[in-house]
Amino acid sequence: MNLILFGPPGSGKGTQAKRLVDERGMVQLSTGDMLRAAIASNSPLGQKVAPIMASGALVPDEIVIALIAERMDEADAAGGAIFDGFPRTLAQAEALDAMLAGRGSRIDVVIRLLVDDAALLARVTGRFEEQGRPDDNPETFKTRLGAYNTQTAPLLPYYEGQGKLKIVDGMGAMEVVSTAVANVLETIAA
Ligand code: AMP
Repeated sequence: MNLILFGPPGSGKGTQAKRLVDERGMVQLSTGDMLRAAIASNSPLGQKVAPIMASGALVPDEIVIALIAERMDEADAAGGAIFDGFPRTLAQAEALDAMLAGRGSRIDVVIRLLVDDAALLARVTGRFEEQGRPDDNPETFKTRLGAYNTQTAPLLPYYEGQGKLKIVDGMGAMEVVSTAVANVLETIAA
């Protein structure tokens, strides 16, 4: 199964993806994690994207599309994946559809985690204090939320038009959200 976890920063995509990895052995493809790994290894790619990520803006489409294409061809991802933080633009969504079609596959479902802006800010501020992830600081968070609203939210009608969009209330406790996600997946598997 190919699943997109969709939502703004702090909506719980990574947390829910990790649950699905632990509980169902699914494979998580997080472009944010891939980019942070590139920065940690100080590779040329990491050096290129570090200032962009620090600003809260999106990195160029061709970079993340290439990362995903490479990762999709690894054996563990052959049976499907959870896309976490990708796609974030229409160009990425179209590229993903084409990449999957080329592999005889497709996106099965897009789960939108709905969380209000005040809760997002509270969560990301908490994560900043706990983990010190630089782009979680409140100023940069505003830029990230702006990028979501202008560049990523327009994907909602794209997936709605494909009949793939499901909405999950992401405001509750992690367990409650996990149950709601599992319920959606059951309707897809059925
Ligand atoms: P995330 O961990 O998903 O919140 O991503 C952290 C940062 O990585 C974002 O603010 C962007 O700068 C960059 N990034 C991650 N995924 C993408 C993507 N699909 N397209 C563009 N930029 C991305």
